[in-house]
Amino acid sequence: MRRHWQYFWLAALGWLLVSGCDGPPQVHSLSGYTMGTEWSVRLVARPGAGELGGVRQEIDAALETVNAQMSTYRESSDISRFNRLSPGERIELPAEFGKVLLAALEMADATDGAYDPTVGPLVNLWGFGPDGRRTRAPAEEEIDAARSRVGWQQLEVITREGTIELVQPGGVYLDLSSIAKGFAVDLIAERLDALGFDAYLIDIGGDMRMRGHRPDGRGWRIGIERPVPEMRAVHSVIAPGDRAVATSGSYRNFYIDDAKERSHTIDPRSGHPVPPELLSVTVLDDSAMVADALATAIMVLGPQDGYAFARARELPVLLMVLEDDMINERMTPAFAPFLAEEPR
Ligand code: ADP
Ligand code: MG
Repeated sequence: MRRHWQYFWLAALGWLLVSGCDGPPQVHSLSGYTMGTEWSVRLVARPGAGELGGVRQEIDAALETVNAQMSTYRESSDISRFNRLSPGERIELPAEFGKVLLAALEMADATDGAYDPTVGPLVNLWGFGPDGRRTRAPAEEEIDAARSRVGWQQLEVITREGTIELVQPGGVYLDLSSIAKGFAVDLIAERLDALGFDAYLIDIGGDMRMRGHRPDGRGWRIGIERPVPEMRAVHSVIAPGDRAVATSGSYRNFYIDDAKERSHTIDPRSGHPVPPELLSVTVLDDSAMVADALATAIMVLGPQDGYAFARARELPVLLMVLEDDMINERMTPAFAPFLAEEPR
């Protein structure tokens, strides 16, 4: 019952914000910092809807839900509690965490473990987790030790009467960083929908979801970055419609050791970061959570297998591949219709 009242007030607030003031609709921007990156939300509403404080509260609450449950950077989060459990101990997962974990396990299954939410020990070992950075590659023995703790099949998920329990087999360390940002985008979209907004663009560190039109009546346009570390330039522009877009890139978060680029995307099958040829992967999907995970999954599968995977599933995917010092783009047939013809 309390929940219903909550939605009533949300709807009332939304109605005020969307339609309560005079003048043509404008784009209002909100932004902040979360999950190690920037977030921004652009909302189309009437001017003077200036009191967007209620909206910001809703966004902050959604982000807090995700961080409190799924951030490995917080010791008190549910995921960190799970990671500290002794063999055989279990926890009941909050609904959102359960949903994200099941989606991650599905992706692991679909990619035969190229994508794996238990990759955490390797991510941390290579210096891309909460333990902090490193500048030298780890020793092979360390890699082998971390690898023995990785493997999504070890996880025992018990679903019963709408609850999800997760058993710690011993030494398993979950890392949902490749899917939680996308999920947070979906959660914010849900809240904006509930507030009555029908035009917005949500972006958390490159994981985006959009709906409706800009005030001039045109749909949202997204610039896809040219994947080079030292500059920011637009490679192509797409018109995703009411969809989510996620881009994974090996060209921003990496370090160089032994003249090799060490990316933050790790291939759990080899225990090593993915090779640098595949510069970026852009995926469109209805769900930002799925797009986020797919982008990392295809990054691990690599330019050939990743392309074949996307093609076989008719996914709209754009790959940027470094070949003979040239950046070549490769897109699936399902991606082509989203290329924007008119200027931004
Ligand atoms: P991006 O999508 O821009 O590459 P993300 O932060 O979304 O960046 O995803 C990268 C994170 O995903 C890494 O920091 C790590 O925590 C996690 N990760 C790395 N390799 C894998 C993998 N093979 N499967 C699942 N998650 C991974
Ligand atoms: Mg991502």
